[in-house]
Amino acid sequence: MNKIELLKIKEKALEDHIPIIMDDTLEVVSNILKEKEPQRILEIGTAVGYSAICFSEYLQEGGKIDTIEREIDRIVQAKQNIKKVQVEEKINIYEGDAVEILPTLKESYDVVFIDAAKGKYPFFLNEAMRMIKVDGVIIADNVLYKGYVMSDYNKHKQRTAVRNLREYIAKITQNPNLETEILEVGDGLAISKVKNLSKV
Ligand code: SAH
Ligand code: MG
Repeated sequence: MNKIELLKIKEKALEDHIPIIMDDTLEVVSNILKEKEPQRILEIGTAVGYSAICFSEYLQEGGKIDTIEREIDRIVQAKQNIKKVQVEEKINIYEGDAVEILPTLKESYDVVFIDAAKGKYPFFLNEAMRMIKVDGVIIADNVLYKGYVMSDYNKHKQRTAVRNLREYIAKITQNPNLETEILEVGDGLAISKVKNLSKV
């Protein structure tokens, strides 16, 4: 991977106010990926491809990332960026709304990274649980949402997002098949390890 190109991609994204993964969050996720050496990763929310490009370094030989994005400008940029660092064969972009695309996917994944519309996190979790492998990890970014999620703040125009993030956290902490940790890195990172998928 060309680190200088990667740095340029990151700098341009920050300049354009694209909410790419924060450095401390990336470090935590990278450590998980290093340990897991995943074959298949699913990402919800590609933006301009920065996180997917970073994650692609930790794939097993022949491994692949599927990533979903609905904004056409970002898809175009993501494709250009992926080409610049020559990881085209490792990253597949599904173009469209994840709410429509996820139910059509039939694969299993070692890691699912949720980083898109906060109001849809409970739905994304259901889809992730359907496709995650035993011993897989479901990681969700921005779960603390600038502190709104853990405060009594509920008069904001973002209250639907806050309510759904709270529901997401309740689900991952209460599900006996998940072992969850919530870290105060970046905008809040939830890491849920899948223990067993015994359907009750
Ligand atoms: N993972 C990226 C950042 C993603 S930002 C990185 O760290 O580099 C969130 C992205 O999710 C935005 O580009 C937004 O357009 C996209 N998004 C939000 N809701 C979506 C949905 N329902 N379907 C597909 N993409 C969505
Ligand atoms: Mg994010």
